[in-house]
Amino acid sequence: MDIFIEPIGRLINEFSKLPGVGKKTAQRYAYKIIGMTDAEAKHFAESIVYCKQRVKYCRICGNFTEEEVCDICKKRDPSTICVVKEPKDVIAMEKLHEYKGVYHVLHGVISPMDGVGPNDIRIKELLSRIDGNVTEVIMATNPDVEGEATAMYVARLLKPLGVKVTRLAHGIPVGSELEYADEVTLSRALSERKQI
Ligand SMILES: [Zn+2]
Repeated sequence: MDIFIEPIGRLINEFSKLPGVGKKTAQRYAYKIIGMTDAEAKHFAESIVYCKQRVKYCRICGNFTEEEVCDICKKRDPSTICVVKEPKDVIAMEKLHEYKGVYHVLHGVISPMDGVGPNDIRIKELLSRIDGNVTEVIMATNPDVEGEATAMYVARLLKPLGVKVTRLAHGIPVGSELEYADEVTLSRALSERKQI
């Protein structure tokens, strides 16, 4: 017999699906929910459904948006495209308030070990964005093995199209993630980016 009554066990099970949440934390979350008022619990549950219904991927850059095309694609300088692995990397870059161009979210990096090839991420979509108006593509994938390999792979495809390809300068610790780089480091990596 399970030590939790069924509804609580079920909620704990749902919370354990979240990244970084083990059984103990999931149990704490479940108890917190039970301690909420009915209205609070309803609002919490509805926010999950609301978020899922409203958030989609921008048709152009692949970042999160509530519309067909995101605000960044609509309003910013389309001549520079910053290529990142995930939507959270866009947030890391945006925190700098320095970058004026647009983004392209790959939704992954090439990783043969994990069975992820070039066709599994949004590389084709990036190539289709390169027209006479794009002058620079900044490869801002993480400075780890997969991120570097992906940057090099994409650079090889882009060069024949006559576009300048740059890479964030080192300074972001190798093997780390953009998300965790402090803003000064990331800002310097952006301003000192090198052509590849
Ligand atoms: Zn967009």
